[in-house]
Amino acid sequence: MRVLIVEDDAPLRGGLQSVLELAGHRTATCADGLQASHLLESEPFDLVVLDLGLPRRDGLDVLRRWRARGGTTPVLVLSARDQTTQKVQGLDAGADDYLNKPFERTEFEARVRALLRRGQSPMQRIGCLSWDAAQRRLTINGEDVPLTRNESVVLEALMRPPGQIVSKAQLAARCSADHIAVSDNEVEVYVYRLRRKLAIAPDARIKTVRGLGYCLMAAGADE
Ligand code: CA
Repeated sequence: MRVLIVEDDAPLRGGLQSVLELAGHRTATCADGLQASHLLESEPFDLVVLDLGLPRRDGLDVLRRWRARGGTTPVLVLSARDQTTQKVQGLDAGADDYLNKPFERTEFEARVRALLRRGQSPMQRIGCLSWDAAQRRLTINGEDVPLTRNESVVLEALMRPPGQIVSKAQLAARCSADHIAVSDNEVEVYVYRLRRKLAIAPDARIKTVRGLGYCLMAAGADE
């Protein structure tokens, strides 16, 4: 697997690189946010380890821009900012997981393994619904179901993994394109349209979790 490490603290960056390479991964490293954005746009990665406090471009900004461009690579955020609001901001900006500094090596390794496992299978299935993340293609009972860009962004977020609650703010951050922010109301419209398209799947549905967001689940799984 190919991992991008974005960290301006040189000893920590080197340490993370050794840990990942010992685990058999290939790595690329950079020490500032602007370079991170360039690398993400020009090379494929299976995982990004992203510090938040970075020179030239803040890590949250890197993450928001990457998700806004439709980037789906799993992102593990590292931060010394341990307040809950910062964590929420990171998750809302599209982080898949979050580690507060300082952290144990074993915990870092476990989070990396979990994120890489999650990203490994490009084909996600729930009931008769299949989502091919690599081709961004939805099939229900083997039939192609065309989706708009934002519908596919919403479905992609709900599929990683199915059953996990995704907030409206997270979906809005993922749907937002360069300089065009998507509102919560627009997210509701995308979810509404996606539900109509999923209605032909008898065994999967998007559930609204009041005050928290949405999750995709097998029909009857929660009742
Ligand atoms: Ca830093």
